[in-house]
Amino acid sequence: MTERLPGFSTLSIHAGAQPDPTTGARATPIYQTTSFVFNDADHAASLFGLQSFGNIYTRIGNPTNAVLEERVAALEGGTAAVAVASGHAAQVVVFQTLLQPGDEFIAARRLYGGSINQFSHAFKSFGWNVVWADTDDVSTFEKALTPKTKAIFIESIANPGGTVTDIEAIAAIARKAGVPLIVDNTLASPYLIKPIDHGADIVVHSLTKFLGGHGNSIGGIIVDAGTFDWSRDGRYPALSEPRPEYHGIKLQETFGNFAFAIAARVLGLRDLGPALSPFNAFLILTGIETLGLRVQRHSDNAKAVAEWLSTHPAVAWVNYAGLPGDRYHNLARKYSPKGAGAVFTFGLKGGYDAGISLVSNVKLFSHLANVGDTRSLIIHPASTTHSQLNDAQKAQAGAGVDVVRLSVGLEDKEDLIADLDQALKA
Ligand SMILES: *Cc1c(COP(=O)(O)O)cnc(C)c1O
Repeated sequence: MTERLPGFSTLSIHAGAQPDPTTGARATPIYQTTSFVFNDADHAASLFGLQSFGNIYTRIGNPTNAVLEERVAALEGGTAAVAVASGHAAQVVVFQTLLQPGDEFIAARRLYGGSINQFSHAFKSFGWNVVWADTDDVSTFEKALTPKTKAIFIESIANPGGTVTDIEAIAAIARKAGVPLIVDNTLASPYLIKPIDHGADIVVHSLTKFLGGHGNSIGGIIVDAGTFDWSRDGRYPALSEPRPEYHGIKLQETFGNFAFAIAARVLGLRDLGPALSPFNAFLILTGIETLGLRVQRHSDNAKAVAEWLSTHPAVAWVNYAGLPGDRYHNLARKYSPKGAGAVFTFGLKGGYDAGISLVSNVKLFSHLANVGDTRSLIIHPASTTHSQLNDAQKAQAGAGVDVVRLSVGLEDKEDLIADLDQALKA
């Protein structure tokens, strides 16, 4: 019999996990411990010297988190992954591994509002300079390249507009420039899009959203595709140069196609400290078991709600890549053929005030700043998530004053439509 490669649903349930060797527990236990006893002094020394893998201290790694890491790496098709405390922590750890003060990276202008803030302000204080580019005109990425560019950052399906990015076109620019492509795959999840298949070198997630999926835990993860040669031209010294704290080993030379994941763990997690709680890892693992079922239903519900909204007299426009005729429909068919996800925006003819009225009158939809919950969520980005941006930045980020964003949940679609209907009438 030839060995079958397990499918997505099988990996979602089994990858990384096995019955607990001591107790036989079938579900992955929560290893709620800070630290792990060494077998003997030699074992301790080899762990600290990176000569062998094992548990030391939960800031650097934990067995519950390790199952989550292996599972997401398997779902994304990467070589290894590192779980961290939040999606934003994942971004800090990735860039801290890649950048020196004074370096630049190029980021899509159309991003999660929190990422725009993080890149514009916090990262500037570290001396990391973001240069913005436009995913609707990929030549802007090429034009933004300078000798200081160390990475390119995009979202596969972009928040808040739910627009689909031409990952392969931007990956080609990154490859030619010799810099890694980092893809935030939060809104798509690996069920809809696997960025590594399209040329991504690093994938990041906010596990808080669809992977956890139940609106109960904050978490993030970094997946190493194993595709990038970090020692080619000395631009990534953390990976290519000898590490004084690890007996002078060079991470790329020693760890090959999972060197980035090792660096993110033994430099980023160790020194910056944003460890994921094993309890959150357990909840997120439980969420991932049903990832494919949930994301399919999220997408199907979103399409039904988008279709209904597009015929409503109070609605000026609906941007949902799953609708034929949408500007991003062809990209969605190429990159995300099973559905265009749960998050999209629409515009109200009544502008800012109509947006405020709608979010005030919904009953089943929750008015809050999150996406990827079982529950349906609604927000008016201009008065909340994107309120820090000026009007031009709001419009560029897809968050103009008339824009409402939905994250369509797993309820009955008829109930969701009825709720929006009564709120639009109110
Ligand atoms: C929520 C989100 C983040 C940040 O994740 P946190 O877990 O909230 O830190 C990053 N990117 C996208 C696309 C998100 O939706």
